[in-house]
Amino acid sequence: MVDCMEFLAGKELFELEELIEIFGEKRYRAKQIYEWIYVHNVDDFSSMSNISKSFREKLKGEFSLYSIKLENINKSRDGSKKFLFKLWDGNFIESVYIPEREWSTICISSQVGCAMGCKFCATGKMGFVRNLSAGEIVEQLIHVIKSENLKKKRVNVVYMGMGEPLLNFDNVIKSYNLITDPDGMSISRRRVTISTCGILDGLEKIRALEKIPKLAISLNATKDEIRNELMPINKKYSFKDVLNFCDKLPLKKGERITIEYVMLKDKNDSMEDAKRLSKLLKPFRTKINLIPYNPIDDVYDSSPMDRIFKFQEFLKKRGFTVTIRDSKGKDISGACGMLALKSI
Ligand code: SF4
Repeated sequence: MVDCMEFLAGKELFELEELIEIFGEKRYRAKQIYEWIYVHNVDDFSSMSNISKSFREKLKGEFSLYSIKLENINKSRDGSKKFLFKLWDGNFIESVYIPEREWSTICISSQVGCAMGCKFCATGKMGFVRNLSAGEIVEQLIHVIKSENLKKKRVNVVYMGMGEPLLNFDNVIKSYNLITDPDGMSISRRRVTISTCGILDGLEKIRALEKIPKLAISLNATKDEIRNELMPINKKYSFKDVLNFCDKLPLKKGERITIEYVMLKDKNDSMEDAKRLSKLLKPFRTKINLIPYNPIDDVYDSSPMDRIFKFQEFLKKRGFTVTIRDSKGKDISGACGMLALKSI
C-alpha cells in the first residue's frame, strides 16, 4: 500500500525544495511545482509546461500529485452539492459546496469520523477513524474549486465538515497555511474559519501562532447540564472556561469570534436560554450564528422558525449581531451536522 508521503499536494514549499535537491535539480524548480499544484491546480505532471519532460517523468515515477479521488457528487435542489471523496487507504470523507449570490462557501473535513460524539451530529455517531493529512484537507478544496470552476477570491472556507479540527492540530494548521499562502492558493485569511467544539489545549496552541485563524465555537447550550448532554466534551472543557479563554486571543480591530448555536426544540431554545446567552456573551467580542437543526434521528427536533426569529430578536435588541444560518443541502444530507457518508 502506498504511503501518504508519496503525494505532492499537501507539501509546503520548503518540503518540495528538500525533495528537489535529492533529485539534483535547482531549488527554483520547487517553486514551479508549488505553483502548478496550488495556483494552477493542474491534474497531472504533463501539464507542468515549464519543467523538462525528463524531470517530469522522474517525478511521475516517484510521486502522485493528489491522494484523494472524487467518487460522487450529490446535488441538492437548493444548488448546494455534497462531494464524496475516496482516500488512498479506502476511507471516505465528504465536503460541501454551498453557492451564494456573490460568494461560495466550501465546508471541508479534517478527520474521518469524529470522536466527540455530539448528540445532534451524524458524524459524531460514526466514531473516530483517523486524522486527515494536510494534503487530504487541501485537496478537498482544490477538487471543489476545479469542479465548480470557482474563482479562489470568491470562496469562503469553513472547517466545519467531518471531525474536530483542533484534535488534528498540526495538519489543520499546515493546511490552513497552504490555503492562505499568498504565493499559493491565496485565499484571504478573512475568508477561512476554523470551528471547534471547544478543545482548550488546541485553543492554547492557536494563541501561540503567529497568524491566528478566524474561529467559531460550537456552543449550543447555556447551562452545563444541557451542554454535558449535547456535547460530552463539556465535561472535560467547560464552555465557560472556553469562552474565558477566547477572550485572551489577540483579536484585531473588528474581528469577532463566531458562536454557533444549533436550535433544538424545547432543549436550548427558550427565552430563558436567550437571556442566559446574552448574559454569558456580553463580556466577549462575539457574533452569534443560530443554526436551525437538521434532524438526524428522533431524539431531538428542530425549533420552529418563529421561535428562532424570537430568539434572534431578543439577542439583537441587546446589541448582538445575530444571523440565522440558511441551512442548505438537507435533501442530500449535506447540511450542518448531517455528514455521515450516506451516499457510499
Ligand atoms: S459537531 Fe463537530 S465535533 Fe461534534 S461530533 Fe460533529 S463533527 Fe465532531
